[in-house]
Amino acid sequence: MDAPIDNDNSLESLFSNAEPLKEQGAESLEQNLSLASETQEITNEVLDAESEFINSLHKFQAEQESIILKAKEMLPTQCSKCDAYIHSKKDKGSIVKNKCCFQCFTAERGQITMEAESAIESSKMELIATMDLSDYEEWLFDDDLGYRCLARIIAKMQSQGYEYRPWQISIGAAAWSKDNYNNTSLEDTRYLVERVKPNELIQYIPDSVDGISTVIDSIKRAEEIRGIGTKSSSSKYHWPIIGGIAGISIIIPYLMKRK
Ligand SMILES: [Zn+2]
Repeated sequence: MDAPIDNDNSLESLFSNAEPLKEQGAESLEQNLSLASETQEITNEVLDAESEFINSLHKFQAEQESIILKAKEMLPTQCSKCDAYIHSKKDKGSIVKNKCCFQCFTAERGQITMEAESAIESSKMELIATMDLSDYEEWLFDDDLGYRCLARIIAKMQSQGYEYRPWQISIGAAAWSKDNYNNTSLEDTRYLVERVKPNELIQYIPDSVDGISTVIDSIKRAEEIRGIGTKSSSSKYHWPIIGGIAGISIIIPYLMKRK
């Protein structure tokens, strides 16, 4: 009986001995498990903390952005072209409409207008250069300032002893001017023709009046009637008349007006 008891005992003791072992094992498993769960908890905490940090950071950054944006909004708008701050209603309206301040807008429009004007001006000058002599003569002399310009040339020719009729000088001056025309304005063209040297001008003055004798007769008659060509006549009073009867293109409308 002893042996089995012993056996039993020994078995029991084995079990009993094993119990703490089992407990030990369980304990270590439990420890492991709790360690693992602790680790997991820590990891979770870290993750939570991280995501909380990231959220906060995002929120902070968003707040900063909105502060900067608000600060920017408080600044007055600047013109995209000249960087001027936009204060006046005119500028504010211009920014909306034209995307630049009013001054930049008007400067730009002015430039466009100027370019258009100079394009028109240059095409006009090209046209002047290709005019018929009679049209050119009309362009050059057929207004008050033109009459005066022509009168100065006539006076100069007479003062230097040239005895040409006004119509001859008108044609000669127009022909010289046309020949020397270099895209100048009417004012400048007159300035230049007034200063032409008589010996240069006479090369352009027609001697004969082929084909225009009738008109010339009319001019002569008109001159006689008005006493032009006589040195005693008041040149100031007759300037428009001199101009009117001087050129062929000028004389016709002039006589038509007179009759
Ligand atoms: Zn501007």
